[in-house]
Amino acid sequence: MLIVMEHYATPENVKTVIAAIEAQGFTAQPIPGGDRVAIGVLGNHGYVDETPFRGLAGVRDFIHVTKPYKLVTRDFHPEDTVVEVGGVRVGWGEKPIVIAGPCAVESREQLFAAARVAKENGADMLRGGAFKPRTGPHTFQGLGFAGVELLREAKTQFGLPTVTEVMRIDQLDFVAQNVDCLQIGARNMQNFDLLKEAAKIKKPILLKRGMSATLEEFLAAAEYLVAGGNDQVILCERGIRTFERALRNTLDLAVVPYLKKVTHLPVIVDPSHAIGIRELIPVMSKASLVVGAAGVMIEMHPDPKCALCDGQQSLGPESFAKMMKDMEALKGAL
Ligand code: PEP
Ligand code: MN
Repeated sequence: MLIVMEHYATPENVKTVIAAIEAQGFTAQPIPGGDRVAIGVLGNHGYVDETPFRGLAGVRDFIHVTKPYKLVTRDFHPEDTVVEVGGVRVGWGEKPIVIAGPCAVESREQLFAAARVAKENGADMLRGGAFKPRTGPHTFQGLGFAGVELLREAKTQFGLPTVTEVMRIDQLDFVAQNVDCLQIGARNMQNFDLLKEAAKIKKPILLKRGMSATLEEFLAAAEYLVAGGNDQVILCERGIRTFERALRNTLDLAVVPYLKKVTHLPVIVDPSHAIGIRELIPVMSKASLVVGAAGVMIEMHPDPKCALCDGQQSLGPESFAKMMKDMEALKGAL
């Protein structure tokens, strides 16, 4: 880190900052400039917290050289991380995967019907929300723990690894015992207590980008999981909120090749929540593969018009089957 001093900072101010740097166990390197002094902080092994220097007289600004994340970067770990979810490999160099299933687990009949469609059409994993983060309280909130049990039954019956969202720390253990991958959703990407506890779980985590999170914040959230002991992390781009209102969110696919450069963790795309309009999901799923995504997550419902959640963006069995055929052809071409 560089600490930039004000032009009016006195030699005494500079001395105080140097002493504060040394008090933290670092080495200070003053760099006199034309009209101000910058002081380099050397000897750190990670991100330097600027808090101890913030209130000091004559300090103007901080320039960080080390990012608030490190373990998730290729600088630290150049090789791709391959995350294994119930035997399915997810990674940059692997065959792209498809996670499919309803927004919410509604009943055994509904979940099993969706699982059958997923399985018959070659999906790699089954999704379904048991704990649902709904915008308002007067909508279907999910089946909770009973929904998690249905996911376990569906896995036994159809042999597909399962993914479901956890919203609270007290859900972690039960979900980890019953499903193959724990999702931390957009609204909880910066629930740091949840991230710290999820890091202790020995199951893969699907971390979704917050709807207003920068990529730095996204990676820093993933850093909590890896730093806490869980490097089985899949990142998911699910669209961000911009000034545009025609679509549910804005799907920025450039994130995929950018993150491929920066991180060894695999990135998948969720076009369903990004776009919110059923007809547009297949083409953007294909686009996700073209830009190199390690996979896609698709909302699919046996009868979307009756869905209790996100029916407008859910594919039905026929459109899902067609999309899967098109994706298979595309994978061959890629
Ligand atoms: C979901 O995948 O079920 C979900 C709620 O998505 P997001 O967290 O991206 O809104
Ligand atoms: Mn949904």
